[in-house]
Amino acid sequence: MNKTKYIFITGGVVSSLGKGIAAASIGALLEARGLNITMQKLDPYINVDPGTMNPFQHGEVFVTDDGAETDLDLGHYERFTAISLTKKNNLTSGQVYDSVILNERNGVYLGKTVQVIPHITDEIKRRISIPSEGKDVAIIEIGGTVGDIESLPFLEAIRQFKLDKGRENVLYVHLTLVPYIKTAEELKTKPTQHSVKELMAIGIEPSIIICRADRVLPRDIREKIALFCNVQADAVITAKDEDSIYDVPLSLHKEGLDSKIVEFLNIWAKTPDLGEWERISATLKNFKNSVTIGVVGKYVNMKESYKSLNESLVHGGIANNVRVNIKYINSEDFEGEDWEGDFGELESCSGILVPGGFGSRGINGMLRAITFARENKIPYFGICLGMQLMTVEYARNVLGFKEANSVEFDPQTPHPVIHLMEDQKNVDRMGGTMRLGSFPCVISKNTLAFRIYSKNSKKPSADKKNCARIYQDGNILINERHRHRFEFNNGYREKFEFSGFVFSGLSPDGTLVEISELINHPWYVGCQFHPEFKSSPLFPHPLFRDFISASLKSLNPEKKTPSPARRKKPKKTKA
Ligand code: GLN
Repeated sequence: MNKTKYIFITGGVVSSLGKGIAAASIGALLEARGLNITMQKLDPYINVDPGTMNPFQHGEVFVTDDGAETDLDLGHYERFTAISLTKKNNLTSGQVYDSVILNERNGVYLGKTVQVIPHITDEIKRRISIPSEGKDVAIIEIGGTVGDIESLPFLEAIRQFKLDKGRENVLYVHLTLVPYIKTAEELKTKPTQHSVKELMAIGIEPSIIICRADRVLPRDIREKIALFCNVQADAVITAKDEDSIYDVPLSLHKEGLDSKIVEFLNIWAKTPDLGEWERISATLKNFKNSVTIGVVGKYVNMKESYKSLNESLVHGGIANNVRVNIKYINSEDFEGEDWEGDFGELESCSGILVPGGFGSRGINGMLRAITFARENKIPYFGICLGMQLMTVEYARNVLGFKEANSVEFDPQTPHPVIHLMEDQKNVDRMGGTMRLGSFPCVISKNTLAFRIYSKNSKKPSADKKNCARIYQDGNILINERHRHRFEFNNGYREKFEFSGFVFSGLSPDGTLVEISELINHPWYVGCQFHPEFKSSPLFPHPLFRDFISASLKSLNPEKKTPSPARRKKPKKTKA
């Protein structure tokens, strides 16, 4: 039976060094060497999962197929590798304490005092072992920075792991910062030395040190780090700042990271095939055209909140060989008494996207941006909340239901075109209770959505993550990930359909609207799911690919959309 090898990745000096990207890149490199891998993130916070956290606090909540609300690093892992992750791949202190306390209440510890060592650490070790079963390599990233009080039990558990599993099966990789001090014209190794010392005080001796720096570290600096930190000089790897995160696997490979890893772990693995990564890197460097997309939302000052969305737009650009400039625009800019109908930067965007979101702040501004896109025939993509608002806008301004709304924002609305899903009506606990994870959707023939998805159903092997398959009556079946409580109210379906609104994707039993679109518009599509969770640079999601393509066409002189100066402005209504 093959024995799993474990790579633990810790971070030091400061946060935001790109530990998640480094971990994901190691995943990509080991997969390219033909190894069967899994990845896991250990988060020291007490929340059971990030699902209930405010995006301003935590950034995006990434959703897996099995409906786990997880840390956004899992998004990087899925984008960089071919693996699909589950609930078990994101472990938090909250989950660990939750089960240890439950065990204690059930008398499992037989009268013993329940302590961090061994009870908490044993539970951490047990949960690290679960997803790694049967894999060649498990890559485990520890959240936070060495020295944080919260992460100590995790560090203690991974220290013990080496004793339990054997020296040749466990590798510690530490990521630090090597700053360049301009006035001294010198690269400084002291923060790295201190951080490694801190790690060693806990009993963890890293074998590989990845140094984030603005340039490749010269030999003397690597030798100095090697000497002071007790590692081999060729195990000091530079992680140089790169233009794109998708250059990182190639850059770490050039530095010899993956060959050092397989050497330390004593694994036989083929030389990596990095052709696809090279293709992507070359595409990203040689764009001739660009297209500007306006993302109108409310978490715009916190880019981490739209991580997967941001990346999916870049993937759509890769698929069309075009640079995507993303303008994040605060929808509240289009609200208030003194708003004069000026859409600012949005006016020069070739495509408009309203992403997912919760709560009523900024909603009226989003509705105005949607009217602007609809009336001026600017490609519009509504994701989750963006689809719900697309129907509210239509109900108000085309069907004439002036007070139509989602009951999320107006529980008393006379026209609840978006209402609470049936199985959400009795929910009283907030955590993990939304409609979460992957659900099937049937797309009808002769719709734009069908054309978009069928482009890749012809080549299913080239599209592992998003492959659509032919379903009954020549329709298409897809699976996409969800995170919502509200849905389109079927009581309004006929009225919408009668006036040219198309419900192109439904749940297989026909009860839930999953995709809607508008005829008489070049590209006006909303989806109740989050396609951004299934896009990757190697397999750009069909909806993003097509949205970027339509936005590019709207730049064309023969475009159907009026030039920015001639665009119609919605009438100033009370908002
Ligand atoms: N707030 C909406 C709902 O719960 C939309 C959620 C989202 O955009 N993810 O249905």
